[in-house]
Amino acid sequence: MKKAVKCLISAGPTREWLDPVRFISNPSSGKMGYALAKAAVESGMEVILVSGPVSLPCPENVERKMVNTASEMNELMKNYFPSANLTIMSAAVCDHRPASTDHHKVKKLEVSKNITLVPNPDILEGLGKIKRPGQILVGFAAETERHLENGKKKLRQKNLDWIAVNEVAEGKGFESDKNEITMISSTGQSIFFERGEKLLLARKILDAVWP
Ligand code: C5P
Repeated sequence: MKKAVKCLISAGPTREWLDPVRFISNPSSGKMGYALAKAAVESGMEVILVSGPVSLPCPENVERKMVNTASEMNELMKNYFPSANLTIMSAAVCDHRPASTDHHKVKKLEVSKNITLVPNPDILEGLGKIKRPGQILVGFAAETERHLENGKKKLRQKNLDWIAVNEVAEGKGFESDKNEITMISSTGQSIFFERGEKLLLARKILDAVWP
């Protein structure tokens, strides 16, 4: 049992609001992050799950904090990160948000004139910059091409210990119950997990990153 281990996990998409009825988001279901939270609790870890809007129930014995936007997720992740031993960022954070959010519904014909996007903070990269020795930081990379090469680049760029790379294609990633993952470490290890249920993969990922 991994009793004294504090594990911080992010999951799901973020929503970036243009006005009270319109947002930019992505099809992340949150299933991978929720499976990781469940597997981490099973192994005895203390788990905080920072979740974007998803319809999944909170896994038993997990402390869940719901957020909406990337900025809200960033705030909470930065708050909890210093006391976490293991942090896994599996959320599909929107890279951009509207430059401003209107408090009233924007008129249909005005919408296209109002969408100017600005970049969101890269939450994981920010955590990589403040990581202390002994803390383990894990990211995800969903790639449609040259997935291992792009994954390795992100591992270095964001100062991660491990990155879980998956190829986005039909039946893989996002809304699927199954996934196929290659774990790459900063020390040069590479482990391939063949297509399987996300909960089974979650257990294997945890065993790899916190043996
Ligand atoms: O660079 P890319 O978006 O592919 O990196 C994916 C990883 O970075 C994931 O772990 C995701 O949770 C994280 N990320 C983040 N903040 C962003 C974009 C991605 O933390 N704005």
